[in-house]
Amino acid sequence: MAIKQFKTESKRLLDLMANSIYTNKDIFLRELISNASDALDKRRYLSLTDQNVKMEDPQINIAIDKKARIITISDNGIGMSKDDLENNLGTIAKSGSLDFKSELDDQKEIDIIGQFGVGFYSAFMVADKIEVTSQKVGEDKAYLWVSESEEGYEIKSAKKDECGTLIKLHIKPKSKEFDYDQYLDSDNIQLLIKKYSDYIRYPIKMDVEVTRATEEEGKTVTTTENQTINSMIPLWKKAKKDIKAEEYDDFYMQSYYDYNKPLKTIHYKVEGNVSYTALLYIPAKAPYNYYTSDYKLGLKLYSRSVFIKDEANELVSDYFRFIRGLVDSDDLNLNISREILQQDYQMNQIKKSIDKRIKNTLEKMLKDDRDNYETFFKEFGAQLKYGAYEDYGKNKDILIDLLIFQSSFEDKYTTLKEYVERMKEDQKDIYYAVGESVEKIREMPQIERVLDKGYEVLYFLDNVDEFMVSILNSYADHPFKSINKGDLDLESEEEKEKIKKDNEENKDILSAIKEILKDEVKEVHLSSRLKSHPVCLVSDDNLSLEMEKVLKEMNQGGGIKANKILEINPDHELFQSLKQTYDQKEDIGSYAKVLYDQALLMAGFTIADPVEYSKLISEMMIKAMK
Ligand code: ADP
Repeated sequence: MAIKQFKTESKRLLDLMANSIYTNKDIFLRELISNASDALDKRRYLSLTDQNVKMEDPQINIAIDKKARIITISDNGIGMSKDDLENNLGTIAKSGSLDFKSELDDQKEIDIIGQFGVGFYSAFMVADKIEVTSQKVGEDKAYLWVSESEEGYEIKSAKKDECGTLIKLHIKPKSKEFDYDQYLDSDNIQLLIKKYSDYIRYPIKMDVEVTRATEEEGKTVTTTENQTINSMIPLWKKAKKDIKAEEYDDFYMQSYYDYNKPLKTIHYKVEGNVSYTALLYIPAKAPYNYYTSDYKLGLKLYSRSVFIKDEANELVSDYFRFIRGLVDSDDLNLNISREILQQDYQMNQIKKSIDKRIKNTLEKMLKDDRDNYETFFKEFGAQLKYGAYEDYGKNKDILIDLLIFQSSFEDKYTTLKEYVERMKEDQKDIYYAVGESVEKIREMPQIERVLDKGYEVLYFLDNVDEFMVSILNSYADHPFKSINKGDLDLESEEEKEKIKKDNEENKDILSAIKEILKDEVKEVHLSSRLKSHPVCLVSDDNLSLEMEKVLKEMNQGGGIKANKILEINPDHELFQSLKQTYDQKEDIGSYAKVLYDQALLMAGFTIADPVEYSKLISEMMIKAMK
């Protein structure tokens, strides 16, 4: 049979593995043992739901043949069919996310691989030839998959006594750079098993040489005994005081292929109506696909320490879907099917309790560990905001006090509660500005007046913010108010009178400008919103300018536009000059257009005709310089 080529991405990874920039070669053992354990989990689950599948004496065996330089890792788990071997071991990084590899340096590449898990391929760090013999449960044929690194692989028929998988690693020869012989050393392998795979719930067995004293004084006898190396106690079942922070972190990083330590670990036990143990993690970084539909919820469900299922979305609310970890309950009935499980009352109880625990943890972090909370919020804050607004704000009361926003107050993050506590006595509304960045918001013409009044402005920088505020409406009876929208109502009665009068007196020029701009704008008027800038663009109370941009970006809304209002500063010199020109019956067409284009640019829009804009400016410059 011809040798088959690995898929391109796999080849690349193989190359990395074989040449091993991944410094910690030891992890190959952990990866293979973890695969074996997963395979046993799968068989166990099948045996609970399918009467034809038996699960007897589940175990993982490790054997070393020093002379032949082979280490064997075998399991009596689910096994792999011919297709499985082809699909699972011939390809890696199925999501294709190594595609952008060419742009990355090696370190970044390793980081990305870390996110996918090094998995089976890590064996190529220590072996130059790998043989996988496997027979799938329910099938009567076994197959052998062989590969000698980059060359590709072959699959052929094979013989095997029982279902499961047996992996033979031909360990590389000892070299100047690295002593591969250590992986043929029984004591060292035992240490590695204890270090990385102690909690594996199936026995990892090995032939171990045991030396014992005999009855005869001073004499010992050495025999070979088949022993279980791991303690088999799952990490989460150990007492908290016996677990080192490092162990928690390692467990997380191994389980979720994350190269970052978790930001927070939550481990607790509940006894009562429904008893369960939970080991939950808040990741420090959102996975690369977090905000896409590819992201898989990271909660596993165990019953009496036996794995039941992945992605148990019935265990935690969607707004906390960034949480990873597991739940182990002694009370769940194992024989019920997944569907029934979903409706189960007990599951619901657990979910409520987990949600509450996560919320409390976040609240506590926000209160006592603000820096870490901000780190968390930068990664997952958008999720909480989304949670507050989805389903018409059904969960807003749960989430609202977990939200933080950057604001004009010391340019730090603030909660809404803190904002309200700082509000000035005469302030009724909670002001916010929507923009791309803090810098851009600070430069907005319309922010000056609000800040001058001593009012704090929240910076809405996420796309989701405006959607959210449209559902929230108010906080603690204070309505949210955009500084870029509608009437701000900041003026005193006298100021209002004055601006009304100004508008009245300048009716003609304003409607002349409106005439020139046609349907581009809904209205042109003088406003007291501005201080040092001559013009700005705002929208009426309907769709905001930012929303228009967001919808356009998302290709939604069918080109729907905000109702734009051009506001002119009556006290600005420019308006005075414009007025003079108009009064002298000179044409103000080009001025009006340039003013409008400037307002567009400041509001972050592109202008319809940059060539004309440039032409008009040039003409004005020439005129001015004459
Ligand atoms: P991962 O474990 O992250 O999915 P791997 O490269 O380690 O990636 O393994 C790829 C796939 O090969 C696994 O998902 C599993 O389906 C299959 N596999 C690996 N080892 C075994 C095994 N010992 N028994 C059964 N299937 C296995």
